[in-house]
Amino acid sequence: MSGATLRVRCPDCGGSAAREVSSYLSMSGGLRWCAETHCAACGFMLQDVDDELSEAERAAILAEEGLFALRFTPADGADVRVRSAVRQALSLTFAEVTALFRQCPQQPVTGVRAELDLIAARIRRAVPAAEPVVMPLP
Ligand SMILES: [Zn+2]
Repeated sequence: MSGATLRVRCPDCGGSAAREVSSYLSMSGGLRWCAETHCAACGFMLQDVDDELSEAERAAILAEEGLFALRFTPADGADVRVRSAVRQALSLTFAEVTALFRQCPQQPVTGVRAELDLIAARIRRAVPAAEPVVMPLP
């Protein structure tokens, strides 16, 4: 689970509204973001759901929770099945995932906690012996 509250402009009255974003898993196992916007001044209320975070939402969650990294043991980092699971989870090409692991073999992926938790779960499903760990970056 990840989430944060940010201030946005109310589409009705132009005042300052609160937008509360939180992650959840869809029925198909994908990561989705539910957001509730509420304006205390005029009562405007909107709930929406999206697959992607906006830049402002991502920044608010990172400010709230910090940046996380997906960390691998040296053996897992060298395992092609682990790399394949990362590639599929992030929709990367072979060249892109190879570059990620070359730059940072034990910590190739960083991001919002909920995103990495999901990638870690997919890796464990694909490679039961793998031990990916999601940990906060200092
Ligand atoms: Zn309003």
